[in-house]
Amino acid sequence: MNANLLDGKAIAADLRNHIKTEVQAITASGQRPPGLAVILVGDNPASQVYVRNKQKACEEVGFLSELIRLDADTSQEHLLSLIDDLNQREEIDGILVQLPLPEQIDEETVIERILPTKDVDGFHPYNVGRLVLRMPLLRPCTPKGVMTMLERTGVDLAGKDAVIIGQSNIVGRPMALELLMARCTITVCHSKTKDLEGKIRTADIVVAAVGRPNFVQGDWIKPGAVVIDVGINRLDNGKLCGDVDFEAAREVAGWITPVPGGVGPMTIATLLENTLQAAKLHQVS
Ligand code: NAD
Repeated sequence: MNANLLDGKAIAADLRNHIKTEVQAITASGQRPPGLAVILVGDNPASQVYVRNKQKACEEVGFLSELIRLDADTSQEHLLSLIDDLNQREEIDGILVQLPLPEQIDEETVIERILPTKDVDGFHPYNVGRLVLRMPLLRPCTPKGVMTMLERTGVDLAGKDAVIIGQSNIVGRPMALELLMARCTITVCHSKTKDLEGKIRTADIVVAAVGRPNFVQGDWIKPGAVVIDVGINRLDNGKLCGDVDFEAAREVAGWITPVPGGVGPMTIATLLENTLQAAKLHQVS
C-alpha cells in the first residue's frame, strides 16, 4: 500500500489564494488591507529566513507588512515600548516577535505584552486559555495548519486515537488541544514517556514534533494511520528531513505529509489566515 500524500504546499497555495481574494474584496470596499508587523531581534540566520518568507507571503496576498529589525543587544524595555506602540497603531492587526530572543529578554513577558487580538502567533496566555476552554480566538499557527490539512483528508476525527510526540508550547501542547477539540482521544508523549513505540503502534493519527531525523520508524505505524510530520531537520548533506522515516512509513500509512512541502508551508499560510482574522476583529470593534 502507498499512502496518500498530504500536499501542504498545494493546500497552503489554495489557502493563500482565498486570502488574496478576500483582501481584494476588503480593499475594493474602501477598507484598509490587513497589516502585520514582524519584529526581529538580532541576526540569527534561521530567523532571518523565516522572517523573509513571512514578509514575502504577506506582500503576495496584499497585506501591509512591516519589518522592524533590532540589534542583538536591544533591551527588554525598548522592545516592550515598541510593542506598546504597535498595539496602539490602527493599521497594524498582527504583531509577531520572531523567537528565539536574546537572553537578556524574557520571552513570556514579551508575548504577554502583545494585545491578545493582535497576537497572530496565538502564544499569549489569553489565546492559549481560550483554546483550552474550547472557545478559540487566535490559534497557534502550526497546529491550526495541521488541522486544516487533516480536514482535507476527509477522515472523521471524532473518536480517533491520536498520539502527539512532543509537548512544546508552540507545537505539541496546542496540537493536543486542537485534536481534543476535534474529539480525538489524545496521548501526548515526551522525552520521559515509557514505551513510545507501543503507543504509536495503536495510533490512528500520529503527529511527530520532536526535532530528530527519522525518529519514528515506518514499522511503528498502524496500517492506514494518518501521519503528520512537523519536524524540520537539516542533515549533514544539507537536505531537509522530518521526524518520520518517510519512505518506510508511506508503505503503511493511509495519509502522510512530506518534509519539505508538508506542514512548513501551512504554518506561514495560517499566519496569514490569523492576520486576516485579526483584521476582521479590529474592523468590527
Ligand atoms: P522542542 O525542542 O521545543 O520540543 C521537542 C519535544 O520533543 C519536547 O517536548 C521533548 O520532550 C520531545 N522529545 C525529545 N526527545 C524525545 C524522545 N526521545 N521521545 C519522545 N519525545 C521526545 O521543539 P518544537 O519547537 O516543538 O519543534 C519540534 C520540531 O518541529 C523541530 O524539528 C522544529 O524545527 C519543527 N517545527 C516545525 C514547524 C513547521 O512549521 N513545520 C514549526 C515549529 C517547529
